[in-house]
Amino acid sequence: MSETINYLHSETSTANGVEIGLLVKYLLMDAIKAGASDIHIEPWETTLVVRIRLNGVLQELVHLPLEYMEKISGRFKVLANLITYQNGLPQEGHAPADPELGGVEQRISIFPTTRGEKIVVRLFDPSNRSFDIHSLGFDPETVEVFLKMLTKPSGLILLTGPTGSGKTTAIYSALYHLVQRSGSTMSIATVEDPVEFSLPMISQAQTNAAQNFTYPIALRSLMRQDPQVIMVGEIRDPETAAIAVQAGLTGHLVISTIHSGSTAGVFARMINMNIEPFLLSSSIIGVLGVRLIRKNCTYCSQPYEPEAGLLALIPREMAETAHFRKGAGCEQCMQTGFSGRSSVTELLTVDAAFRDAVLQKLPTRALQQVAIQRGMQTMWQKGLHRVAIGESPLEEILRVISVDEA
Ligand SMILES: [Zn+2]
Repeated sequence: MSETINYLHSETSTANGVEIGLLVKYLLMDAIKAGASDIHIEPWETTLVVRIRLNGVLQELVHLPLEYMEKISGRFKVLANLITYQNGLPQEGHAPADPELGGVEQRISIFPTTRGEKIVVRLFDPSNRSFDIHSLGFDPETVEVFLKMLTKPSGLILLTGPTGSGKTTAIYSALYHLVQRSGSTMSIATVEDPVEFSLPMISQAQTNAAQNFTYPIALRSLMRQDPQVIMVGEIRDPETAAIAVQAGLTGHLVISTIHSGSTAGVFARMINMNIEPFLLSSSIIGVLGVRLIRKNCTYCSQPYEPEAGLLALIPREMAETAHFRKGAGCEQCMQTGFSGRSSVTELLTVDAAFRDAVLQKLPTRALQQVAIQRGMQTMWQKGLHRVAIGESPLEEILRVISVDEA
């Protein structure tokens, strides 16, 4: 960070020491002002480090004396209505929107480590949450095909990508699009863990493991109410997978996420959850893979040449014609060289040929080849395109997207 913010200046210090409530408020305000998505407060050997996640990457904000640790975690426990005297067990809670913090909500998680409590605060800023499908950074072709998938009356649309890759924002944008398109004529319901943002005209439910309100129980009950569109936060067990597929086959449009390394890998993952290939091939409409990449700062980006070792990873004709650019770091981007993020996608459309391939139980690699033959552009190819037009440096694409094995 270019400037060290003085958190221990006169305002937070009193005759009795440091005013922890004010200190915590300043940390939150600075993180929000910087556009951070999370704050991580963690006891290291000799210091309490405060880091913020900016555009998906952690950066140090400030180091505080270790002796403030307990008071700071105590303050967050009060904010989130947690048990303040308990410090040996993990706790999670939610601090409601604070007008003084611009209406930002906090999801607070406290985890006991051998050095003390580690705190992670996720920040939800309603003012920068846009659920416009056109503003996610999808390439125009993906938007067009994805929107077409959303017109289907039944079937499954699955999104895949690691945590923090923009799956939830993409799903919320899809639901928001359906609301805008159909208004009150469409019944849309969700089951999520947890509900991250409240959407208009949609019934959202949050699972609650302690009360045994699980995905399967919620979905079975929801099916009896017969909504047209069902969003399932995540398919991660065979029971949820079976109900989601069943719903997709019986006249519901089901949108969900699933953990998989690639779009083609989703089919093997579902088969591992005991779903028969013939059910998969007839229920899944498409799989959208998403990753978020940081974009070059427009103020300081300049032409550069990637290292030879990295250049060797990309097709020669591209290496020769690409307009490689990289941010040098400036005040506007807090010396990171990046400003904002964009989604890179891979959209696998299930057509007749692909359906046959699924029925034949082809391995993931072969399924991917079929999808490519049917016109799918891989995430790697799309990422390289962003590099070629100078939107992001090659190193950034390599950080988040795995290289296609030719
Ligand atoms: Zn810059």
